[in-house]
Amino acid sequence: MTIKQFQTESKRLLDLMINSVYTNREIFLRELISNASDAIDKLYYLSLTDPAVRMNRGDFGINIVIDKENRTLTISDTGCGMNREDLETNLGTIAQSGSLAFKNNNEAKDDIEIIGQFGVGFYSAFMVSNRVTVITKAYSSDEAYKWESEGVDGYTITNTSKDSPGTDVVLRIKDNIGEDSFDEFLDDYKIKSLVKKYSDYIRYPIRMDMETRRLQEGSEDQYETYTENMILNSMVPIWRKNKNELKEEDYYNFYQDKFYDYENPLRVIHSSTEGTATYNALLFIPARTPYNYYSKEFEKGLQLYSNGVLIMDKCADLLPDHFSFVKGLADSQDLSLNISREMLQHDRQLKLIAKSLEKKIKSELFDMLNKEREKYKTFFKNFGLQLKFGVYNGYGVNKELLKNLLMFYSSREKDMVTIEEYISRMPEEQKHIYFAAGESIERIDSLPQTELIKEKGYEILYLTDDVDEFALKILHEYNGKEFKSVSSQDLGLESEEDKKKTEQKALDYQEMFDFIKDSLNGKIKEVRLSPRLKSHPVCLTSDGVLSLEMEKILNAMPTDNNVKADRVLELNPNHPIFDVLSKLFANDKEKLKIYSELLYAQALLIEGMSIDDPVAFSNSICNLMVD
Ligand code: ADP
Repeated sequence: MTIKQFQTESKRLLDLMINSVYTNREIFLRELISNASDAIDKLYYLSLTDPAVRMNRGDFGINIVIDKENRTLTISDTGCGMNREDLETNLGTIAQSGSLAFKNNNEAKDDIEIIGQFGVGFYSAFMVSNRVTVITKAYSSDEAYKWESEGVDGYTITNTSKDSPGTDVVLRIKDNIGEDSFDEFLDDYKIKSLVKKYSDYIRYPIRMDMETRRLQEGSEDQYETYTENMILNSMVPIWRKNKNELKEEDYYNFYQDKFYDYENPLRVIHSSTEGTATYNALLFIPARTPYNYYSKEFEKGLQLYSNGVLIMDKCADLLPDHFSFVKGLADSQDLSLNISREMLQHDRQLKLIAKSLEKKIKSELFDMLNKEREKYKTFFKNFGLQLKFGVYNGYGVNKELLKNLLMFYSSREKDMVTIEEYISRMPEEQKHIYFAAGESIERIDSLPQTELIKEKGYEILYLTDDVDEFALKILHEYNGKEFKSVSSQDLGLESEEDKKKTEQKALDYQEMFDFIKDSLNGKIKEVRLSPRLKSHPVCLTSDGVLSLEMEKILNAMPTDNNVKADRVLELNPNHPIFDVLSKLFANDKEKLKIYSELLYAQALLIEGMSIDDPVAFSNSICNLMVD
């Protein structure tokens, strides 16, 4: 008999499981029961949609058998079973996305985190057993197979026989290791309590023989023990239960089981809605960003049930992209079981449910923002980017829905604030909502452009994500207040009178400005007197819709390269350097050329942009130092 090797990543995961000190090892049972239930779901679905599959609901179930003598625990199901290829692909390897996670996730801190990211799955059996045997027969097949493994060394697959379709998973429970006892997993009361705790909602009966005592007939104090085959679970799906029957912990257990997370969700949304769309929904806002969330591999979607029967595992049409982080399910009696995936997309009922879910999610998030600020901040750190993309995408079709969920860092609060909060603090004379974009809070904070606005006592929103400025451009205004970059030409700070004065002064220096512009050989569009600088001599801004920050971002993208913002070099007329420049313009134009180059290079550096010729820059500075 040949021993086959596990795929490398599977081996690692297995090794983790076997040696794990994962305290929560009891969850192996919910994993196996959950697999059994999924397998029955598949066959049950077929029995409802394919007349050739003749089975009744009563034929389906999960059975647990404890054999203390041989230290085995068996979980059997009447599900779809597996053929040889299924065994190879399903139990010999872990899912594609999983293997990817391993590669990208070397930074995962500990085994709990790694295990958590995978969903522990079938391999969790190895946390409590030293040998796992799977005997299975696929529906519509005459062949049965036995898959067996004692751990990382590999597994075997041999032919065997089995009466009916389905799967038996036989665990040889580990011997006790010193203090570490595994006996509890052979105890029927313990198993019963684990089923209650984690798998109560499973739709099929989970049966087990239990030793029970009863009074002997005719006696008042003599008991006899007898064995009774009992159904351990209530079989009511949690989302069909009444909210007040459920504890927070019930939701959390369900969530962790179904949606492969080891952390509790930030928020649970349990609703039953009647009206234009009639459905039950159980939704969760995760507390963590999935490792692949901001990548193409991530698949959004909710589980879709039709009257309690799972018809689709990830129904993407139920969730808009801006809420793609939501996990959960929707169950509606208005959907036909037989509907195909292609048809589903056009289903009117599904669209109504999706619209209603979107509204619900929005209002729950808004509620969290108002009532559970810290939680909301965690949420926004994880998924805020997605909301901002949501504002920007589709030319802003969703901006009204999303705008009051946004948060940005505030120069004044030194914390995340909403735009609403910003506006509520605006002094009466302040006309605009100011923002500044850059790589990091620290960098933006030291931008010369922010100086005057800050001095006026105005708050500035700091934008550090690439999408931020694009999103604000799409929003354009909020409650009638326009967004204004600290670099924009007209900051709305000067009175008409001051503006006239500045214009007059600019005229006086126009020749010098033209000279500086010419020395910079077309690199800039204009030289101007700065309306925003206080203590700094120079800064770079731009004219038109494209800002310098947007230029950086667009040029970093693989498609749009070489866009150029119209650069404007601003000089501070109140800085001593300005006088030096005017003197040079009168006496030493050659030197003014060099100074112009230097000032432009400095302005670029301040903006976090690179200079064309760093060597020339450095040489010019050295020459000045030697002078
Ligand atoms: P997951 O359930 O997340 O897919 P698992 O490691 O638990 O991952 O299981 C891997 C696959 O093995 C399942 O997707 C399923 O196809 C198959 N499988 C596991 N248990 C059973 C079972 N009892 N009956 C049929 N197929 C099963």
